[in-house]
Amino acid sequence: MNKTFFGHPFGLSTLFFTEMWERFSFYGMRAILILFMTTDKVQEGLGLDTETAGAAYGLYTASVYLLSLPGGWVADNIIGQRKAIWYGGILIMIGHAILAIPAGTTVFFLGLAFVALGTGFLKPNISSIVGSLYGDDKGARRDAGFSIFYMAINLGSFFGQIFVPILASYNWHMGFGLAAVGMFFGLVYFRKTENESFGEIGLPPKKEKSDSAKSVNPIFKYGIPALLIATLVGLQTTGTVNLTSIIGVAEAMKYVIVLIALFYFAYVLLAGGLEGPDIKKVLVIVLLFIGGATFWSGFEQAGSALNLFARDFTERNILGWLMPAGVLQSANSFFIIIFAPIVGAMWVWLAKRNLNPRTPVKFGLGLILLGIGFLFMVSAAQIATSGMKAGMFMLILTYFFHSIGELFVSPVGLSNMTKLSPPQYTGQMMGLWFVATALGNLIAGTFGGHFDPSNVQQMPELFMTFVKLPVGVGLIFLAFSPIVRRWMGEIH
Ligand code: GLN
Repeated sequence: MNKTFFGHPFGLSTLFFTEMWERFSFYGMRAILILFMTTDKVQEGLGLDTETAGAAYGLYTASVYLLSLPGGWVADNIIGQRKAIWYGGILIMIGHAILAIPAGTTVFFLGLAFVALGTGFLKPNISSIVGSLYGDDKGARRDAGFSIFYMAINLGSFFGQIFVPILASYNWHMGFGLAAVGMFFGLVYFRKTENESFGEIGLPPKKEKSDSAKSVNPIFKYGIPALLIATLVGLQTTGTVNLTSIIGVAEAMKYVIVLIALFYFAYVLLAGGLEGPDIKKVLVIVLLFIGGATFWSGFEQAGSALNLFARDFTERNILGWLMPAGVLQSANSFFIIIFAPIVGAMWVWLAKRNLNPRTPVKFGLGLILLGIGFLFMVSAAQIATSGMKAGMFMLILTYFFHSIGELFVSPVGLSNMTKLSPPQYTGQMMGLWFVATALGNLIAGTFGGHFDPSNVQQMPELFMTFVKLPVGVGLIFLAFSPIVRRWMGEIH
C-alpha cells in the first residue's frame, strides 16, 4: 500500500524534512554571519570592518542564488535531482563543519564557498522535485503541496534562527557546528526515505535527452563569458571598482548580474523567435525581475543592516536575559508560518468574488509594505541617534511588514515565472527569478556595509532610502498595472 504524508504523496515528507533541516542550517548561519565577521578578534570574531563584512555577506548570499543556475542545469542534464540534493547537502554540511573550525578569515571564506555551492545544488532541485511529485496535476493539490513545503522552509528557519545564535553567543564555532548537525539530520532522513519516496523521479536523465539538452546555444556559450571578461576588464581599467578587494568584487558583481540579465532578456526578446503576445509576457517578466530585485534588496537586509542594528542599537534584555541579536530574525519565519495560510485564504476568498488582485498590484502592494516596514527602522534609528536603544518591537514591526510583503511577492513571483514564460524558456526564466534574488542580496549586503556604528547620525537617512525606493517602485507598479494586466493576457 502506498504511504502518504497528510494526504499528499509520501515523497513530500522526504522533501519536507530535508528542506527543513537545510533551512535550519542556512538561516541559522545567516543569523550570525555578519555579527561574527564584524566582532573583533579579542571576542573571537573575524574583526573585519563593516563595509568589508557587508560586501562578503552580499557576495555569499548572492552566490547562493546564482549557483542555483548551474545547480539546476547539472541536475536536469547530467546527475538528476536526487543526486544533486544528496551531494549538495554533503557540501553544505562540510561547509558548516569548516566554519566550525576557529581558523581565521581564509578558512572561513572557504567554508562559505562550500555552503554556497552546496545550496546551489540542493535548493533549486529540491523545489522542482516538489512539482514532479504531482505529475500533471496543476491544480489546488499541487499548490497545497507547495504551501506545505513553504512551511518546512520556515519551520527550519525559525528554529535555526533561535538555536544557532543562542549557541553562538557562548561560542561562535559551536553555532556554526550546530548548523552542520542540522544538515546531517536532513541528509540522514533523505537517504533513509528517498527510494520509497521517489521511485523514478529525480533519477539521472536518459542518455539521449542529456546529449541534446547539453548543447548550449553558442550565443550564451561565448557571449556571456566574453561579456563578463569585457565588463571586469572595463571596470578595473577605468578605476570604477578595485577587484583586489572584497568590496570591489561585490561592486563588480552587481554590474555583471545586471548585464547578464539585460543580455539574456534582449536575446529572448529580439532573437528568441517569439510572437507578439509572448513578447509582452516576457516584458512582464522583466518588470517582475525589477520588482523582485528591489524587494529583496530591502528584505535581505535582515541578515545585514538590521542584524547589526539589533546588536548595537536595540534593547534586547528580557527579564535579565540578554537575547542574542540574531534570534530576532526568527520573527520573519514566525510571521510567515502564521500568515501564509491567512493570506492564501484571502486570495481564494477574493477570487471567489472576482476581486483577487492581479500580479502587478500584488507586487506594488508588497513593495509598499516593505517600505512601510522600513519606516519603523527610520524611527528606531532616530532613537539611536539620541543615544538611547530602540525597543525590540520596532524591529519586530519591521519584520511583520516585510513578511506580509514577502507573501505578496515571493510565491506570486515564482508561480508567475512558470505561467508567463513561453514553455521553452520556463527553466531559464525560473533561474532569472533567482538572479533577481541574487542581485537583491548583493545590494542588501553592500548597503548594510554602510552601517558604521561610529557614525550613527547618518542611519535614519540610510533607512529612509529603503522607504522611498520600494514605495516609489511599488507606486509605479500600481500606476501601470492596467497596462501590465493587458500584456499578461489571460494569465492572472
Ligand atoms: N525564505 C524563502 C526561502 O528560503 C525565500 C527566500 C528568498 O527567495 N530570498 O526559500
